[in-house]
Amino acid sequence: MRYAEVCVNSPIAQRLTFTYDIPARLDIKSGQAVWVPFGEKVLQGIVLALTDYSPVAETREIAGIIEPEPLLSPAQISLARWISRYYLSPIFDATALMLPPGFERRALTFISAAPAASNHDLSSLSQEQKYAFELVQKQDKISLKQLEKALGKKKAQTAISALVRMGLVTRSYELEPVKTRAKFQPYISLAVDIAKARQEADNLNRKRAYRQAALLEFIIQQARPVSLTEVREKTKCDRTVVDALVSRGLAAVENVRIRRDPLYAEAIVSSEPPTLTTAQESALKAIQSGLRHLNAKPAFPDVFLLHGVTGSGKTEVYLQALAEAVKLGKRGIVLVPEIALTPQTIERFAARFPGRVAVLHSQLSAGEQFDEWHRIRNGEADVVIGPRSALFAPQPDLGLIVMDEENEWTYKQHDKSPRYHARDIAIKLAGLSGAEVILGSATPDVESYYRTQRGKYHLLRLPERVTPSPKSPLPRVEIVDMREELKAGNRSMFSRTLSQAITRAVAYREQVILFLNRRGAATFIQCRDCGFVLNCRRCDIPLSYHIAENTLSCHQCNRRYPIPAQCPQCRSRRIKFLGTGTQKLEQEAGNTFSQARLLRWDSDATQGKNSHKEILNRFRAHEADILIGTQMVAKGLDLPRVTLVGVINADTGLNLPDFRAGERTFQLLSQVAGRAGRGAAGGKVIIQTYSPEHYAIQSASRHDYESFYEKEITYRRQLNNPPFTRLARFTYTHTNDSACQREAERMKKLLIEERDARGIDNFTVIGPAPAFIHRLRGRFRWQLILRNPDPGTVLSQIPIPRGWSVDIDPVGL
Ligand code: ADP
Ligand code: ZN
Ligand code: ZN
Repeated sequence: MRYAEVCVNSPIAQRLTFTYDIPARLDIKSGQAVWVPFGEKVLQGIVLALTDYSPVAETREIAGIIEPEPLLSPAQISLARWISRYYLSPIFDATALMLPPGFERRALTFISAAPAASNHDLSSLSQEQKYAFELVQKQDKISLKQLEKALGKKKAQTAISALVRMGLVTRSYELEPVKTRAKFQPYISLAVDIAKARQEADNLNRKRAYRQAALLEFIIQQARPVSLTEVREKTKCDRTVVDALVSRGLAAVENVRIRRDPLYAEAIVSSEPPTLTTAQESALKAIQSGLRHLNAKPAFPDVFLLHGVTGSGKTEVYLQALAEAVKLGKRGIVLVPEIALTPQTIERFAARFPGRVAVLHSQLSAGEQFDEWHRIRNGEADVVIGPRSALFAPQPDLGLIVMDEENEWTYKQHDKSPRYHARDIAIKLAGLSGAEVILGSATPDVESYYRTQRGKYHLLRLPERVTPSPKSPLPRVEIVDMREELKAGNRSMFSRTLSQAITRAVAYREQVILFLNRRGAATFIQCRDCGFVLNCRRCDIPLSYHIAENTLSCHQCNRRYPIPAQCPQCRSRRIKFLGTGTQKLEQEAGNTFSQARLLRWDSDATQGKNSHKEILNRFRAHEADILIGTQMVAKGLDLPRVTLVGVINADTGLNLPDFRAGERTFQLLSQVAGRAGRGAAGGKVIIQTYSPEHYAIQSASRHDYESFYEKEITYRRQLNNPPFTRLARFTYTHTNDSACQREAERMKKLLIEERDARGIDNFTVIGPAPAFIHRLRGRFRWQLILRNPDPGTVLSQIPIPRGWSVDIDPVGL
């Protein structure tokens, strides 16, 4: 093959790939990382294919190989191409998901003086040009970054462009230094056999070289290579003693590759699989029979939707399905919605597959990520666990992908390209690598459930909880109408029912969780006289009050503001804190239930790496009676002493401008309701609401997914929302609101013209409208929504103007 199709790490490349000549001296394979010339720079590229023919007449040569072995497998290359097509994302962005941590390096610009520069007449230079030129002359070469620091970004760039034009300086490009590499440590071991070493130790003692003798004896005792760090700690011998033994030819020092192991600190006790319940058994049978027929590589892989409430034994099914896959010589990837919240899940997997679990997520150190990635690629992990990005781990022989809590929003990457959904990628990847997929959920995404009804996915049910006994019921759920409380003159955050239940539970030494879907002590601050609401000046959303710092802060951009003494609009001093946040709830609970010990769990209280775990452990150890938290408490916990869960206000999410608001509320309430009663004492859930008749609240209170689904799917059909069509969201941002709006209107016209010119059916454009978060970090945002059964394909024919970002299948409008 003479040519290579390469995707290049440059923002200019977008969805295009480029063809390069393969020089005879290089052995190029597809999936390999290479250096390629691009404009005047040399950039990173990934070889996607080898070809005999080039679509263009002039091709340049690949400059070099970055890593000898291919970084992407053939399945991953196909997957990257698919992601780029389906999500309209630059192809390098798609491959970048799969590259080793720390791999990406940008090209840096350097400036140096031209050879004959000092002969030039410099009198015509401007002040800035002169200064820039002086800086350049002082060194061999100077980075553009440094010049920008000295002169300011714009000024440095204009000055340098001018100097380049005059022939005084030249630009060159280099890649930024490697960020992460393998870690090595010096280890010492014997260079002679043990008998000889013992004899020599005696000799050394006789020569009064006591420290050398002691070190030699220590190495003999250890009977394995010992790191020099350990030598220093345990024998107090420094490097000179080590070197002395080495120069006598008795010991050798060698650099050994160290594994930075993220599970190192966990004390993992291996566990044996329990006997499955009948429901688990039949679910597992179906999954196993799929695994045994994997090699067929169907166009659409087997997808199982495992529907069961929390505690129904889904994780146990995943574990045994993975064990089966391993038995068949395959490996698995397990996705969890949010890694920080699932330490218990990781421990369970690590206990069942001791030493064969790898974790991959952004909270690991760069070194840990690097080592885990290479360990996975070397086939050392049977199971990879992580958030959505773990899908792109270089797991060989992939047989099974598990996606726990498949309905979670964290599976969609919405803030940067590619804006992918892990569920769709998992299914695509499974198809490409001949694997199958298990989606697990207590409250499946309506779209996933719809696919089981249409026969696309297999539905498997775990109808009951496993422990403590098969009869363990789901908690009773009571709905409290807060309008009645107001009528009865109760203005507190706690209804009479909830208040009594808390008092009772605490008295019986049981535990309580109070749930509030909000952070901060007050959602917003309002003037009682004129109604003025304090907003963030950059984002235009209400500011929240934080008790601990006694400041106001913006939840979008995190900017802090002092609390004003007067209303900025009417000068009134009657400023009121409205709404309720977790801190306020903590305060009020403290006043109302003075006997109870409180613990708060929200993202304000959990900034550190392990603080989730600490809070959880403290609560589990019964160091507190009441846990107060945001939606975090609704996830993945197993707390046997909790007998009561109170939802302070179920309506928080219902009124959002999003067709999924009902689904979100149902899922959240069901999750919260699943927290109570996992222990022997049974449990109770109290939901406080101002709209008790809403179907999402009603169905959640009865633990009735099907009735919720029937209502929801009917509305979706009536309003032509997914899964009956698909959506694409276009977002444009600008510092000027009306410019932003004009551009959005222009874009709408463009889309409609293209539709009419091409005769595209089922293509409607909704909007333009300000985005739900209208203003973010000083920029306004407007959006358009496109409804079409296949937006990726339709839009690939339409040139999208610069500055627009497109989100295919957006979640959360
Ligand atoms: P889910 O993932 O649906 O929440 P889990 O798999 O975590 O359910 O099971 C809930 C609890 O029941 C866990 O403590 C688990 O160890 C236990 N468990 C699951 N299956 C069995 C079984 N067949 N026999 C005994 N205990 C089980
Ligand atoms: Zn802000
Ligand atoms: Zn006012």
